[in-house]
Amino acid sequence: MLNFLRFSRKNLVLDVSDRDVVVAQHAALSRQIPILYLILAINTVGVAGGFVGKAPQAMTIGVPALIVIACLMRAAHWMNVQSVETPFDEAVLRLRRTQTMAAVFAIAFVIWVTALYPYGDALSHSLIAFFVGFTAFASLFLMVNLPSGALTVTALIIPPFSIFLMSQGEPSFVAMGIDLMLSTAAFMIAQMRYSADFAALVRARIDTQKLDAENKRLANLDSLTNLPNRRQFFARIDAAIARRAGKPGGLYVGVVDLDGFKPINDIYGHALGDRLLTEAARRLEVYGSPNVFIARLGGDEFGVVVEEQTSERAVMGLCADICLALREPFDLHDVNAKISGSLGLAVFRGDDHTLALYEQADYALHDAKQNHRGEAVLFTAEQQSSMRRLSYLEQALRAADLDSALYLKFQPIVSTQTGAPVAFETLARWRDPQHGEVSPDVFIRIAEKTELMNDITEVLLRKALEAAKDWPDFVSVSFNLSVRDITSPQATLRIIQIVRDSGIAAHRVEFEVTETALISDVEQARESLIALKALGVKISLDDFGTGYSSLNYMLQLPFDKIKIDRAFVRDVAEPGMAADIVRSVIDLCRNLKLDSVVEGVETEDQKRVLHSLGCTAMQGYFFAKPMPEHEAKELAGQAAKAA
Ligand code: C2E
Ligand code: CA
Ligand code: CA
Repeated sequence: MLNFLRFSRKNLVLDVSDRDVVVAQHAALSRQIPILYLILAINTVGVAGGFVGKAPQAMTIGVPALIVIACLMRAAHWMNVQSVETPFDEAVLRLRRTQTMAAVFAIAFVIWVTALYPYGDALSHSLIAFFVGFTAFASLFLMVNLPSGALTVTALIIPPFSIFLMSQGEPSFVAMGIDLMLSTAAFMIAQMRYSADFAALVRARIDTQKLDAENKRLANLDSLTNLPNRRQFFARIDAAIARRAGKPGGLYVGVVDLDGFKPINDIYGHALGDRLLTEAARRLEVYGSPNVFIARLGGDEFGVVVEEQTSERAVMGLCADICLALREPFDLHDVNAKISGSLGLAVFRGDDHTLALYEQADYALHDAKQNHRGEAVLFTAEQQSSMRRLSYLEQALRAADLDSALYLKFQPIVSTQTGAPVAFETLARWRDPQHGEVSPDVFIRIAEKTELMNDITEVLLRKALEAAKDWPDFVSVSFNLSVRDITSPQATLRIIQIVRDSGIAAHRVEFEVTETALISDVEQARESLIALKALGVKISLDDFGTGYSSLNYMLQLPFDKIKIDRAFVRDVAEPGMAADIVRSVIDLCRNLKLDSVVEGVETEDQKRVLHSLGCTAMQGYFFAKPMPEHEAKELAGQAAKAA
């Protein structure tokens, strides 16, 4: 008895333990139930037909008409049900109601046919048995996705009716009753197996879907900050451009880059760097909305997509706010970091594609970083034309025969005691047939984006060393290396080989590197510098004072000389901090036994003040502008004679 109750509880009550299965059951059932009601209606008409004229009209027309109408109403109701995306609670409610309704119909049907029974002959009795059996099987079959409902209906119809049949004493009816019971039991077992399989199938499908959704989510999210990633950023721009359908405006693409992040990451370690990035992401996220999309593009670069019919001014206002938010100090437990974020913004003009918009924003960002650090810069028509020029120059530089198109100028570095050159800094020049002389600030920047830079360094370094052979021994050559030369071991090895092959004494060769070049990959840069120093050459830290790193940090690298940037020299003769800064850097260099050079000396006044501050080596237009090779040779020769 207890087992029976347990069986009944387990199989006759709707199992709601798995929400996904319930929702799937509901979806599958909503397609089957109307058919089940139609079958019931047809069978009712069938049974009634067999008794017309034999039983009272109320039972052959009245009751069946009620059952048929009820069936048709329920069928119509189910046909209107939106099976897709039915919420769990509603699905449970519907399934429970279906089960109850099915039970009510089953009981009504059984009572009705049992009541009809006495009016029929042997033939109509078999008809009833046929219809009852068929109805039970149809409900088992069509409610296969609602096992509790199917079993309830079957349990209500088959056992009472079979017992009723057997109780008639007629041997063929007894056989029919037994047959009905046994085949229903077999059918029920098959049904239960099927529904278990159905649940497993639903589970598997849902699990796959969830996994798939999770994979998609992860593929589109940045794992550190949980912001949308680069891929989603570009997809978002793609979609926005498609929505604009060629209409200008209404779409803005911004690229944000943190200023001063790299040194913090290098000095305090990646764990702290990660915390800073996460915190920066949180600050940016605040500006996100349905129209403002924020993403992390990688490293310390973030993306902003604004899709709104609003003015450029309004969007620039938003961008300025973003920059302000990044300027607030970052409290990272043990360290209080102050950085800023520069932003470049491009406006959709109607015909730009995704990459073009990104490149425009990136171009404006570069301008921001160079000239308006920590602020937002809008990509303008002038920038558009200078970007076109850059892309022309890039092609031209690639096509050029570097050996003949590039040449060097030489600017003396002068000893303030003797007034004679102690070295020449070599400065790259490029004459393009169409654009004429192109500034190294422009073409080196272009070249640095590609391996072209390494080729340029090789060509120029050979020329520089060749020229230096004509100078007296005490005059060195100071050559500028680019970030690409010290962040690639192969490039460094080639440089070493070129110095060796030149036959020049290594101590006469100096390499200038900037802080920006160093911090892009400090570890590799350090290795490269050590390898170069092992050769016997000297290393100078160029443009000192323009970067963001701490002096202590920079001094951990193996430098021989510091070149103080001309930004300090400009104001050194005026009242203010510049003189103090220069003095303390020179003192520090002396203590650390490092040489120092001051760059960009343009006036007698500056020279005098710098001299009084202890500067012994200077470079600048006051002494000489960069000169062609033969002039450098001449100047070096004079110095040799004077010595
Ligand atoms: P830099 O290494 O700081 O070179 C010094 C720059 O300052 C040179 O500009 C030089 O002409 C200029 N200069 C020298 N004295 C004065 C002065 O008294 N006043 C002013 N206002 N400027 C002065 P240049 O030749 O245009 O080179 C610009 C930059 O291009 C260089 O800055 C360097 O970063 C890069 N560069 C030049 N040649 C090479 C090269 O062969 N390889 C690499 N990687 N970079 C190079
Ligand atoms: Ca230099
Ligand atoms: Ca410099």
